Amino acid sequence: VNSATREIFGNIPPWQHYIFYSLATISMAIFAFGVIARMRRWTRGKITWRLELAEIKRRIPYFVTQVFAQPRLRKEPSSGAMHLFIFWGFLFLFVGTNIVAVQHYGPISFFHGIFYLIFKVVMNVFGLLMLVGVGVALYRRYVVRPKRIAGGSYGLALAFLGVLGVTGFLLEGFRMAARGYYGWYDWSPGGAVVASLLQATGASQATLTDWHRSVWWFHAVVTFTFIALIPYTRLLHMITAPLNIFFVPLRPKGALTTPFRLEDLEAGAATMVAPKVAADLMWQQLLGADACTECGLCQEVCPAYASERPLSPKQLILSLRDGVARNGSAGIQTQIDEMMSPISSWSCTNCRACMEACPVSIQHIDLIIDVRRKQVADSRLDANMVNTLTNLRRTGNPYGMPAEQRLAWTSGLPVSVKVDEVQTESEFEVLYWVGCAGAFDDRGRRVARAVATLLQRAGVKFKVLGPQERCSGDPARRLGEEGLFQEFARDNIRNLGRYGVKKIITQCPHCFNTLKNEYPDFGGHYEVLHHSEFISGLIADGRLKVEGDHHLQSVTYHDSCFLGRHNDVYSAPREALKSVPGLKLIEMPRNQEKSFCCGAGGANMWFDVGVGKKINNIRYGEAITTGAEVIATACPFCMTMFDDAQSSKGASGMVQIRDISEILVDGTSG
Ligand code: SF4
Ligand code: SF4
Repeated sequence: VNSATREIFGNIPPWQHYIFYSLATISMAIFAFGVIARMRRWTRGKITWRLELAEIKRRIPYFVTQVFAQPRLRKEPSSGAMHLFIFWGFLFLFVGTNIVAVQHYGPISFFHGIFYLIFKVVMNVFGLLMLVGVGVALYRRYVVRPKRIAGGSYGLALAFLGVLGVTGFLLEGFRMAARGYYGWYDWSPGGAVVASLLQATGASQATLTDWHRSVWWFHAVVTFTFIALIPYTRLLHMITAPLNIFFVPLRPKGALTTPFRLEDLEAGAATMVAPKVAADLMWQQLLGADACTECGLCQEVCPAYASERPLSPKQLILSLRDGVARNGSAGIQTQIDEMMSPISSWSCTNCRACMEACPVSIQHIDLIIDVRRKQVADSRLDANMVNTLTNLRRTGNPYGMPAEQRLAWTSGLPVSVKVDEVQTESEFEVLYWVGCAGAFDDRGRRVARAVATLLQRAGVKFKVLGPQERCSGDPARRLGEEGLFQEFARDNIRNLGRYGVKKIITQCPHCFNTLKNEYPDFGGHYEVLHHSEFISGLIADGRLKVEGDHHLQSVTYHDSCFLGRHNDVYSAPREALKSVPGLKLIEMPRNQEKSFCCGAGGANMWFDVGVGKKINNIRYGEAITTGAEVIATACPFCMTMFDDAQSSKGASGMVQIRDISEILVDGTSG
C-alpha cells in the first residue's frame, strides 16, 4: 500500500510536455477571452451597489444551499438526481485534477500510499456518478424528450462531459495495463476493468505503452477543447449559474426593484423612468440571462403558458440573452421590448411560480415589470389600463369611487360592531387596512364586515383610516407606473406616520405585500399581518372561540400567490380553517408553493390580455374536482376570479366561494 502512487506525466516524453503546456495556454487564453467578453457585457448594465463584507456573509447560506444541494431541481426527483450526479461528479473530477497539479508543481509530496488509494476510490465513484448522470440526461433529452427542454442546445455539453468521463477511465485502464499488475489496482475498479480487458487482448507491453500515450493525448486534447469552449457554449452555465445565485437580490421576495426615486426625479437628479435598452437593465439581469440553463422548469409552472397566453418565462429569458448577444457590442443597445415582447409581459400574473422553480434564481418578474415600465413611458397602454391609472390618479382607488364612500361597507354591520376612524395616535392596538376591494367592491365589503366582526368579537382595539386611506399603489406599480406608485407610497406613509401606526392588518394580500415588503424601501416600517394570520393568532391565543355551528363539512383552500409564494404564508389560513370543528380541509393537487394562480395578479384584475384560455377557469376546475362544499380564499381578487369562473359556467351558487373570515364569522364568539 505504501508504494501505491503514479508518476505524473508518466510515459510522456519530456519534449511532448512543451506541446501539452502550449495547448494548455492556448485553451486557457481562449477561455479567459470568452469569460472577460461576457463580463464586459454584463457590466455594461447598471451597477448601483458595492459588495460589502456584511452582504457577502448574508449571501453565503443561500448560495451554498442552492448550488450544492440544488433543492429546486430535486423537486422533480429523477432530473434532480441526474443533475446532482453530473454536478458532484464533475466537481470531484475538477478538484481531483487540481490535486494532481498541486502534487506536481507544489513543494510537498503527498500523492502516494493511503492518500493516493482513497483518492483513486473517490475519483472512480464520482467519475461513475457523472457518467450515469450524463447517460440519463442524454436519454431524457433524445428519447423521453420532455416538452420543457425542447429546443435546448445541451447536446454538445453533455457529449463533452461523457467523453471526458469515459476517456478518464480508459486512460487509467491503459496506464495500469501498460505498467503491469499491482495489488492496489483493486482501489481503482473502473480502471482495473479496462486494464483486464486490455490484457486479455494479449497486446505486448510496448503496444500497451503506445496505446496509453495515444489515449493520454486524446484525453488532454478533449479537456483543453472543453475548457476553451466553456464561455461560448451552454457549458457557460457552470460559471454563470453559481454567480447569478450569489448575486440574487437580497430584498424581500414580494418586492419589486425601485428604478428611480420620485424625489430625485422631482429635483431633476434623475431622468430615466424606465429602462429602454438592455444597457439600462441592472447588470445582474444581464448576468441572469446568461445563467439560464434552458431547463424549462419556469415554463412548466407558468399559468400564462398553461393557458396558452403568449408567454413562456423560459423563452423570455432566452430572447433577452440572444438579443443582447446579437450584433456584437451593438446588442446591448437593443430596445428591451424588442427582445421581450410587450404582450408577453402583459400576459404575466406576477404569480412568482417561475422564480420559485428556477434553479439558478433568475428574477423573471423584475424583467417583465421593466418591459411594462417602458410601455408606460412610451404611452402604449390599452384602454382598460389607462382607465385604471386614471381612476387611481383621480380618486385614489382603481374602482374610480369617491373616497367618501370608503366607509360604506360598515353600513351592513350589526350595531354591536363599531368601526372607528383613526383620529389620534396610541388609541388602538392595530390599524385595519381595508383596501380598495374591501371598501368599494360589493363582495369585498362583505369580507370587510366579517373581518371587523371577528376583530370586535375578539376584543381587538382596532381603527380604520376610512376616507384617508388610499390605494396601496400595488396596481400602479404592477402596471409599470412607478411614479404613481411612489406617490401613493409617500402619501400613505406620511398618513400612517401621522397616527403613529406600528401594526397593520390587511384584508388583501396585495396590500399586505406592498405595505410589508415595498414600503420599507420608502421609509414605511410596520408590523404587517394578513387578516388570516391575525385571526389565526386570535384563535390560538383563545381570544376568538370557534364553535362550529355553521353546518359546513368540507372546504378547499386556494393559496393567493401574493400571500403564499411572495410571502410564504401557507399555514395560518389553513390553521384558521382547521380550527372549525367538523370542517374537513381538502387540498387541491397543486397547493402551497405549487399553487396555481387565479389569474388576477400583476394587475391582471384590471385588464384582459384577450388571448388564450381563462386562467381562473383552470383553477376553478381544480377546486371543483375536490368535491368540497366551499372554496375558501384569502384575497378579494381570487374571490372575484372564482366567482367569475363559476358564473361563466352558468353554475352560480353551485359551490360557495367565501373568504376565510366569512367562514369563521358564522361559528365564532369572543
Ligand atoms: S410570474 Fe407567473 S405568470 Fe409570470 S412568468 Fe412567472 S410563472 Fe408565468
Ligand atoms: S429561467 Fe430558470 S427555470 Fe427557466 S429555463 Fe432558465 S434556468 Fe430554467
